[in-house]
Amino acid sequence: MFNYSDAFASNILALKKENRYRHFAEIQRDTTTFPIAQIFKRYELEDVTIWCSNDYLGQGCNPVVLDAVCDAVRTYGAGAGGTRNISGNSPLHRKLECELADWHNKEAALLFTSGYVANDAALSTIARLLPNCIIFSDQKNHASMIEGIRHSGVDKHIFEHNNVEQLETLLKRVPVDQPKIIAFESVYSMDGDFGPIDKIVALAKKYGALTYLDEVHAVGMYGPSGSGVADKLGLAGEIDIIQATLGKAIGCIGGYIAGNRTLIDVVRSHAAGFIFTTSLPPAVVTGALVSVRYLRGPEGQELRKRHQHNAKILKESLLSKRLPIVDSPSHIIPLIVGDAGKCMQVTESLLENHKIYIQPINYPTVAKGSERLRITATPFHNEEKIHQLTEALDTIWNDLHLQRRRER
Ligand code: PLP
Repeated sequence: MFNYSDAFASNILALKKENRYRHFAEIQRDTTTFPIAQIFKRYELEDVTIWCSNDYLGQGCNPVVLDAVCDAVRTYGAGAGGTRNISGNSPLHRKLECELADWHNKEAALLFTSGYVANDAALSTIARLLPNCIIFSDQKNHASMIEGIRHSGVDKHIFEHNNVEQLETLLKRVPVDQPKIIAFESVYSMDGDFGPIDKIVALAKKYGALTYLDEVHAVGMYGPSGSGVADKLGLAGEIDIIQATLGKAIGCIGGYIAGNRTLIDVVRSHAAGFIFTTSLPPAVVTGALVSVRYLRGPEGQELRKRHQHNAKILKESLLSKRLPIVDSPSHIIPLIVGDAGKCMQVTESLLENHKIYIQPINYPTVAKGSERLRITATPFHNEEKIHQLTEALDTIWNDLHLQRRRER
């Protein structure tokens, strides 16, 4: 049995070892194919097409980002050398925080070592410090938000996914002047649906709640400058805390929150997940800074356009074969298999017979019986690759006698 996670993790390492990295960057940043890792001898040096990367826009291989990172490594070294408070701070960290705050049109931003840490540290700290705070959390919130809420130790209400009527019923039970936080996401990563930002903002106003929005799967991807779904809807100004990652569309690693200066200072001063850990290396910070600036500009707009186009034609192509995708409104395309063993068989066959890599998503990431492939296009997949993927899935669906959609 193959370990697909290892394959994914090591493919870039293999690429670097083989000194094909630069070559790779030169061939128009085609992030959809990687030489397969050496652990799979029989595939050595053959190309495998990846259809499940969260490097949605290929920024992890953008030569502009790579050059900046390489220069920064040579200038500043490999690591940060300490925590933000003890020797691990730099003007670059501050610069990136200013850039992120400006991108989201907020007063301030704060970096963390990952999006996970950002959620855990920020939610736990804000909720713990607000006297008598209560949190309202969407049932499908990411594990990092759930951990943050748990670590805060405050009371919580979980509302059914995107059920604003139920959220309102729960909010009504709490005095208006009691501090509250509504925590939710703009793009839910396993189903590809959007959170009802406008409705939640309206409820937050009515019942005096702070809004905490995870835009991890949306930054770089939506809105005129790519800062997320809230901005696309003209609602970013209504959100109190925006949280996101530098590890997906931005192509690096790290996480952050953006919000008003006081809130950010509170988290900076009290969050263990910010204070007691080595800060992001300057080279990563530089890469993220260059990547965000790129995504804010016309090239970023072009990438978003091509990305949305590819996601759309991929959905149409899969629907044309009645493959059981969730016809999601976002760029994420869940293809439901509904059985863990079969899901694994599909991904094995994709890799062995079609040189296509898609990780199976099983319990506990999704509910039992809803096992799936989570397919993501990038701007660098083309019509030929979309056709190949569709044909491969169509064949496998026949071979394994899997269920199809009733209609297109
Ligand atoms: N929030 C959501 C919705 C996520 O899907 C993820 C990661 O997959 C995170 C937060 C954590 O972000 P990171 O990968 O930067 O730790």
